[in-house]
Amino acid sequence: MNAKNRIPLYLALAALGLMLAAGHLTMETALPTQAVMTLPSREGYTLTAGELPPTGERLSFSRETLYQGNLLYVSPQNPLPADYPAQQARDVRSLVGLYIPAAAHVSLSEETIYALCDLTGQNPLLSTWIMAGMRSPGEQAALQKAAFSAYQSTLPVVEALRKATQEIPDSGGSEHQLATCFDLRLDGLQDWSYADPMARTADGRWLLEHGWRYGFIRRYPPEKAALTGIDNEALHWRYVGRLHALMLHAADWCLEEYVQALHAYGALRLQTPEGAEIWALCQPMEEDVSFDIPPDASCEVSADNLGWAVCVFQRDQSSF
Ligand SMILES: [Zn+2]
Repeated sequence: MNAKNRIPLYLALAALGLMLAAGHLTMETALPTQAVMTLPSREGYTLTAGELPPTGERLSFSRETLYQGNLLYVSPQNPLPADYPAQQARDVRSLVGLYIPAAAHVSLSEETIYALCDLTGQNPLLSTWIMAGMRSPGEQAALQKAAFSAYQSTLPVVEALRKATQEIPDSGGSEHQLATCFDLRLDGLQDWSYADPMARTADGRWLLEHGWRYGFIRRYPPEKAALTGIDNEALHWRYVGRLHALMLHAADWCLEEYVQALHAYGALRLQTPEGAEIWALCQPMEEDVSFDIPPDASCEVSADNLGWAVCVFQRDQSSF
């Protein structure tokens, strides 16, 4: 482990530029160091902010590659760009039959489908259905129109339109354009003593406890509604990859908290109880973004659709 604690280059250069402009420094002056902070995390994990991994190989990634990543942040207030290159999706049933309990015509990315196969290999989810996956702009518009028609039968037109667009965002603002998101239907014995619908079945409780191990996050946890802005998607899940899901689990963050921490600190390092070491790095988005990756690590990159690019990697082979 490199003991040097360095500020991210772009922050250092920006700070240096400001100081030079103010006439406070010459170019020979050493860069300031950023304090390394330990952030709150679940028991057994150590989460550190502001530290950078040892120097490695500089790898560049194009905007197109970054926009195929698994960490795009999409909301009604933050839609995908008009030139967004649509993700590749496959019909789940035509790829793996009923190995995954998906309704007909549910489409997801191959990576998401294979992660679901891993998960159902461990727990077949016999009383659960995946009801909706990726939606085309036309399908999203049709869904919104159907909701409007339903509300219009009982509400004034303006109110019906407001409710329909609030519940079913315009195509650009819905996560269902991503090939990594899906909605669940939980069948079987329901324990109504749980206020949270996700916790009412054994499958639901198992997913809440173990979904992260397979790369899945519950995207809009009811207890985080003030942060996500969404309180009517209790059964909406998303694949973000095992390393990001582990970070979110260890810190007990929703996606909003995770990207905010990445923007604020530039680098996060997580050590798991099993001894695995995971790094997440963040830089402003440009046409090409490059990250310094240690030679022993393979990384996953993604734009976050908020003006930043994120890279995550594990430095060792420990399982978690
Ligand atoms: Zn959904």
